[in-house]
Amino acid sequence: MRGAIKLFKIMGISVEMHISFLILPFFFWLMYGWKGIFIIFAIFTCVAAHEFSHSMVAKKYGINVDRITLLPIGGVANMRSLPETPTQELMISIAGPLFNIVLTVILFYPLKILLGPYHLFHPDPLTWPGAVAYAYWVNPVLAGFNLIPAFPMDGGRILRAILARKFSYMKATKIAVNLGHGFALLFAFWALSMRPPNFILLFIALFIFVAASQEESIASMKTTLGGIRVKEVLTKEFYTLSPDASIAEVLNLILHSHQEDFPVVAEDKLLGFLPREKIIYALHEKHLDKKVSELMIVDDLPILSGDEYLYSAYNKMENSKLKALPVVENGKLLGIITLEDVSRIYSLFSKGEI
Ligand SMILES: [Zn+2]
Repeated sequence: MRGAIKLFKIMGISVEMHISFLILPFFFWLMYGWKGIFIIFAIFTCVAAHEFSHSMVAKKYGINVDRITLLPIGGVANMRSLPETPTQELMISIAGPLFNIVLTVILFYPLKILLGPYHLFHPDPLTWPGAVAYAYWVNPVLAGFNLIPAFPMDGGRILRAILARKFSYMKATKIAVNLGHGFALLFAFWALSMRPPNFILLFIALFIFVAASQEESIASMKTTLGGIRVKEVLTKEFYTLSPDASIAEVLNLILHSHQEDFPVVAEDKLLGFLPREKIIYALHEKHLDKKVSELMIVDDLPILSGDEYLYSAYNKMENSKLKALPVVENGKLLGIITLEDVSRIYSLFSKGEI
């Protein structure tokens, strides 16, 4: 994520913190000193553990999570693909809030004894027992907020998973999205009716509204592109490059064709891929005399198969930041799929949905 700082890597997942998260410790430190720093650290840990709980269940279903980004308003676990079935979505979504609830229950009696009932029920960042209580109550608040049955909260996903058993995936999504919009308007109204108006709550309302809308487009893409296989829309005519060709020759090819990304082939075997980004880079650096083999991508090049769905192709492009990918079957290069192909097909087939 842009503007995120990598903190550490644990169980193959890198934990990142958005720079906006840095504002919080500063404010809390100004207001409450070290107790403020302690509270922020505790919130940070609870949010990270919440996201880890989602990630662990996702991994169990074979969904890879490569990073968790912590934002001031919560965390985001970056999953490489979407859950395949409503049950998977339900289990993944429930894991986060469930962790916070379990922690709330487990810590209740020990903290009641340690802090005393007064401090436990009177969280106050100005005293140490109060600060510990404050950090403790973050958990049920996190769980409660995330269980609101509306997108983009976990509760929205849980609701969709339940509704998807009865309605179509799109209809279930639409209901959870509408509820998300409803809650956003409710929060905005609440924020503006306060004296003075609560701008943090207003910001959260705006975030919920936008994120709920995004969920609808993701679901629409998944439904449309998840029904079309790569080989059904593959362009049969395409150019390939020899590893010994120069960038100047590639440029000439681009100017005389509609292709901007090229598979690099020798003796019918795919050696690598030269995407437009690399060609633009070569142009900027005036590397026109360089060879294709010096600039092509070989390692970490995602390969598509003909039977793969376009939605998976789209995800692979998103994750690799490439705008085109080669399609290979049984070691034979079948063609390439570009992001333009995907969006053209999407706009063609998504019409008339719902
Ligand atoms: Zn969550």
